[in-house]
Amino acid sequence: MSKTLRLETILAHAGIKSDKATGALASPIHFSTTYQHPEFGQSTGFDYTRTKNPTRATLEATLAAIEKAKYALATSSGMAAIVLTLEIFPVGSKVVAARDLYGGSFRWFNDQEKKGRFSFTYTNTEEEMLAAISDETDIVYIETPTNPLMIEFDIAKISKLAHEKGAKVIVDNTFYSPIYQNPLLLGADIVLHSATKYLSGHNDVLAGVVMTNDDAIYEKLFYDHNTTGPTLSPFDSYLLMRGLKTLKLRMEKSTKNAKKVVEFLKNAPQVKEVLYPGKGGMISFKVVDKDKIPSIINALEVITFAESLGGVESLITYPTTQTHADIPADVRASYGLTDDLLRLSIGIEDEEDLIDDLKTALEV
Ligand code: PLP
Repeated sequence: MSKTLRLETILAHAGIKSDKATGALASPIHFSTTYQHPEFGQSTGFDYTRTKNPTRATLEATLAAIEKAKYALATSSGMAAIVLTLEIFPVGSKVVAARDLYGGSFRWFNDQEKKGRFSFTYTNTEEEMLAAISDETDIVYIETPTNPLMIEFDIAKISKLAHEKGAKVIVDNTFYSPIYQNPLLLGADIVLHSATKYLSGHNDVLAGVVMTNDDAIYEKLFYDHNTTGPTLSPFDSYLLMRGLKTLKLRMEKSTKNAKKVVEFLKNAPQVKEVLYPGKGGMISFKVVDKDKIPSIINALEVITFAESLGGVESLITYPTTQTHADIPADVRASYGLTDDLLRLSIGIEDEEDLIDDLKTALEV
């Protein structure tokens, strides 16, 4: 691209005009796994799809542009992005991580610790995290805002200290997306996403992405991406590109709806606490009577009881038995992830329909 374009233009133009041969506006889906060499010793730049695929490369260029990254690698899921990222660090690396994490990340981290691959120090607050980062630390890993307690961490402050101590900073930017936060601009070394969520936005693609500006880090990521093959399929690359086009509009509407829902929940007598960081579509809330949780969930008709987030349809999740079930109950309770907490992913529906639905369900 010759001009430096702004975010909304980059999004709306995801993948367009990428096929010079035909002028096709929408990106073609290149299913071919292999590519003809023009002559012995020559390459078109594409040899085998695990290494590089034209549709995935077009998607990766857009993802890199919206996260202000030099490089992006699209993966088959968010977990694949997390594993790909951590795997480039040596055996025995010491990780300081936020305690409140997506349950699947915690599950894999825990497995790695048991195998002696990495060791983890978990911290509940930003203050604790800053105190835990030492000369021994190799990696600082944060989700901000955290899932599901919605605690924000100051990426710039943490990155500054981590770099003084010689550690690399990894940020899972799934919840805010590049619309609300560009971790690389704030000093993070690597940013990753579950692109299954806001980036794709329609609950029909499982995908992930890892991005960096660091040449040496990219070289290792690219090597492992090609060697171990957690690559995103051409079809899913296309679907993700299509979803990206409306990312800003979706995020803005989700935020607008979420703010209205927060206002309602804060005044609902059945709700004792609302956790919302002020932007985005994710809200957690604690109910006065946790025994009512099954009836609340069963009474919802517009909001779907399902385990994901970031799509156009609003979802409700019960982290205790779903996303965070693999975190032992005593550990969950110790940091405030109590069994009276419900998590909402607010979509782009009419806000009054969402509020009416919640009102009816809470009153059951
Ligand atoms: N990171 C966060 C914050 C998540 O919420 C999730 C999934 O819910 C993941 C990573 C894992 O992503 P995926 O489900 O695409 O593997």
